[in-house]
Amino acid sequence: MTNSPFPGVTYVKAPERSSISDNAPVETLVAEIIANVRANGDKAVREYSAKFDKSDIDVFEVTPAEREAALAELDPQTRRDTEFAIENVRKFAQAQLATILPLEVETLPGVHMGHRVIPIHRVGCYVPGGRYPLLSAPIMTIVPAKVAGVDEVIACLPPNAHKAMIAGCHLSGADRIFRIGGAQAIAAMAYGTETVPAVNKIVGPGNAFVNEAKRQVFGPVGIDQLAGPSEIFVVADKTGDAEMIATDLLAQAEHDIRTRVGLITTDKALAEAVLKEVEAQLQTLSTANTAREAWINYGEITVCEDEAAMIAYSDLIAAEHLQVHTADAQAFAKKLRNYGSLFIGELASVVYSDKCSGTNHTLPTMGAGAYTGGLWVGAYVKIATHQWLDEEGVKQVAPPAARQSASEGLEGHRRAAQLRLDRMQAKAN
Ligand code: NAD
Repeated sequence: MTNSPFPGVTYVKAPERSSISDNAPVETLVAEIIANVRANGDKAVREYSAKFDKSDIDVFEVTPAEREAALAELDPQTRRDTEFAIENVRKFAQAQLATILPLEVETLPGVHMGHRVIPIHRVGCYVPGGRYPLLSAPIMTIVPAKVAGVDEVIACLPPNAHKAMIAGCHLSGADRIFRIGGAQAIAAMAYGTETVPAVNKIVGPGNAFVNEAKRQVFGPVGIDQLAGPSEIFVVADKTGDAEMIATDLLAQAEHDIRTRVGLITTDKALAEAVLKEVEAQLQTLSTANTAREAWINYGEITVCEDEAAMIAYSDLIAAEHLQVHTADAQAFAKKLRNYGSLFIGELASVVYSDKCSGTNHTLPTMGAGAYTGGLWVGAYVKIATHQWLDEEGVKQVAPPAARQSASEGLEGHRRAAQLRLDRMQAKAN
C-alpha cells in the first residue's frame, strides 16, 4: 500500500484492503437462481428459501391478520418512533415531488411539446434482513413510492426477518408483503410467479446476492441502483472535534465488516487525535467485533496539503455519506461535487438521516456518487414526453424532415414526412 493515495494526500492510517472480493461465484449462482425461478416460479422460490434461509414457509404472502399481529407486538415507543420517521420521509418526498413539474412549451410556431410526470404502475421494494432489524429500511423504499403515486407497492423481505420489519412495511403503506429473501426475491419480482406479481421496477439495498440479481434482471425491469456496503467520510479542518468524528465513523463501521470509513483533513494533529479516539472507543463499543474489522480493512485517515487536495480527494472517493466539519461548513459544502448525501456542519450526523430525519438513506456507494444521487421520489415516476402540431408546425418541420430522410435513403420516412404537407396543399387548392 502506497503512503499516498492521491497527489498532495498522505495516509496517517491506510486501509489494508482496497477492493471488495471477486464476484464471479456470486454471478454464476445468481444466474442459476434467476433462471430456475423464472422457469419454475413458487416451487423454485420454496427450494431456495429452504436452502438459504432454512425456511419451510409455504405461503409467502403476509396476511392481514399477520400484519396486525406484527403491529401489536411492536412496543408503543418503537411504533411512535417509526411513525415519526415515516412522517419525515413522507414530508421531504412530498416536497421533492412538488419540484418535478409537468411541462408544455411551443418550440417553433405550431410545434407544441412537453412532458408528463407519470407514476410507475407497480414497484417491488426489497427490504433486507440483516443482523439487526433495521426499522428504517422499509420506510426508505416504500414511503416515497406511495408519495409518488405508484399504483401497487409490493415488499419482499427474508422469511426470518424480524417481525418488526413486517410492521414497518405495513406502517409504510406496502400493498402486499412477501416473505422471500435474496436473489430469489428479486427474480420473483422481476418475472412474477404464481403468487408474486411481476413489477416494473425493483428498489432497495441488500447483500451481494441481492445486488447481483438486480444487476442481472435489469432491462425488462428497472432498478434504482446497486447499493453496496455503507461508506462514510468526514472532511475536516483544524476545527474538527476528534470525539465526534470517531463516533460517527464507528457508527457506520458497525454496520458491516466491509464498511468503508475515513477522515480527510488538512490538520495532522486532528488526524492523529481521531486515530487515537477510534482505538479508544473500540474498547467499549458493544459492536466492536464488526466495527474493528471494518476499521482495519477499509478505514483510512489522510492528511491533505491544502483545501484543494482535500476537495479533489473527496470528489474522487464520492462517498455515500459525506460529513463536512470545517469552520465555514456551508461555504465549503458548495465546493464539493461527488457524494451520495451531504451532512453540513458537525451537528448533522449521518445517523439522523439513517433513521428518521427525512432524506432517503438508500444512497450510491463504490464511487457511484460521481454520477447519481440516492433513491428519491423521482425514481418512482417517469418523465415521458409528448408533442402535437398544427398546420403551421407541419410547415416548419416537414420539409427538413423529408430532406433528411431522403439523404439517409429512408424512403418510408420521407413519405411520412411529405404526406402531411401534400394533404395540406391539396386542401388549400
Ligand atoms: P439480505 O436481506 O440482503 O439477504 C438475505 C438473503 O440472502 C437471505 O434471505 C438468503 O436467501 C440470501 N442468501 C444468504 N446466503 C446466501 C448464499 N450463500 N447463497 C445465496 N443466497 C444467500 O440480508 P443480509 O445478508 O443481512 O444483508 C443486508 C445488506 O443490506 C448488508 O450488506 C447491509 O449493509 C445492507 N443494507 C443497506 C442499507 C442501505 O440503505 N444502504 C440498509 C440496510 C441494509
